[in-house]
Amino acid sequence: MSSFFKSFFNPIFPEHKNEFFQKKFMHNNLSILCLSVFLTIEQFYYGLYIREPGTFIQEIHFFTAGIMLIYSIISIYIHFKKPVCISWLCKTYDISFGFYGFLIAIIRSLFIQNNIFSLPTIYIAVLYGFGVIFYFHPLKSFFIYAITSTILIVGLPVFQPSIIPTSYIQDTLSNNIIAWIASVINYRKYVKEFMAQKIITKNNQELQEKTLQIQKMNEQLKELSTIDGLTNIYNRRKLDEILAYEYNRVKRYGKAFSVILLDLDLFKSVNDTYGHNVGDQVLIETAEILKNNIRSSDLVGRWGGEEFLIICPNTDIHQALCVSEKLRIAIETHKFPVANKRTSSFGVSTYQKGDTIGTLISRADKGLYQAKKKGRNRVEVACLNF
Ligand code: GH3
Ligand code: MG
Ligand code: MG
Repeated sequence: MSSFFKSFFNPIFPEHKNEFFQKKFMHNNLSILCLSVFLTIEQFYYGLYIREPGTFIQEIHFFTAGIMLIYSIISIYIHFKKPVCISWLCKTYDISFGFYGFLIAIIRSLFIQNNIFSLPTIYIAVLYGFGVIFYFHPLKSFFIYAITSTILIVGLPVFQPSIIPTSYIQDTLSNNIIAWIASVINYRKYVKEFMAQKIITKNNQELQEKTLQIQKMNEQLKELSTIDGLTNIYNRRKLDEILAYEYNRVKRYGKAFSVILLDLDLFKSVNDTYGHNVGDQVLIETAEILKNNIRSSDLVGRWGGEEFLIICPNTDIHQALCVSEKLRIAIETHKFPVANKRTSSFGVSTYQKGDTIGTLISRADKGLYQAKKKGRNRVEVACLNF
């Protein structure tokens, strides 16, 4: 039962309490702003033109216009400054406005003489306006309704002795109870909307985080799917992709474009003599040598087995031959930890008009075959046109 009351009166998650109070305070302040600006003008006008000069009611109009002007100034300041408001001063600010409204309504009710008492419209307006325009905690609004209705019920027979108690007590109580119920419903609706918004924001945040994680994982997967697991350079799939891209570029813009195919010489003997692991190590180190000796615009990948392909955009045959020679020497002079000295053979080809990717690679392959045939550890260009 106590948890029911707790959730009924405090349905806000504790972590959002301050944010809720702030939002509620700003909402109530905006209501005060609109009402006080309107009432300043209205009450001043009433005092000036409607009421008899010098009467008590006229004084009340002028007094109210002044009070409303003060509220207008404070609420305009709060509206634009948006101060962090959780202090007791802020908490009582909005309720003080409500109290003042009730005070005026009660004074008017006490002074309006009517034999068959009916609640004046100003009182009804304050009663229901307070419950519907503002958001107050149910206990707070109950406290206000209870105090103000008691003042009215006790005060009326004093100011209007001829009044029949049952009719006005019944009217006052039933209207106060209905207004309080409306106020509770209004407040709970506001809280529910606030909490729903919080849940949506939280879910959106989680969704965004998950989407970001998935995007990151996808990028990692994409990266992994383009890299050769052993040598950590591009794999055949990525090389095919780059070849297609560069091929289309060179076809459109007509720039130079070369490829270099290289194959480690007598690699099988490394495996046979020292074992597969040493062979793997030679492949890894060869990839390192290639990476370290090409230009940043060139791309290197493992074409298959102990063959590597270097794609050289904006590179003519002479430049490609230079790069190949540089690589050949770099491999030849490198001392592999177990396999000692190794050499490699190169086939170079440059894009010619009418080439397909297939004919371009075939020419490089042909050059490589010639290099092997001519005794290995050399660079060859196949002159054959496909
Ligand atoms: P050539 O100079 O004519 O190229 O002689 P080769 O021995 O290098 O050529 P061959 O094609 O006879 O042998 C290639 C060897 O490369 C055979 C294969 O076991 C080995 N190889 C291919 N891929 C890998 C690999 O990933 N790791 C290791 N350790 N060896 C590999
Ligand atoms: Mg070989
Ligand atoms: Mg081979």
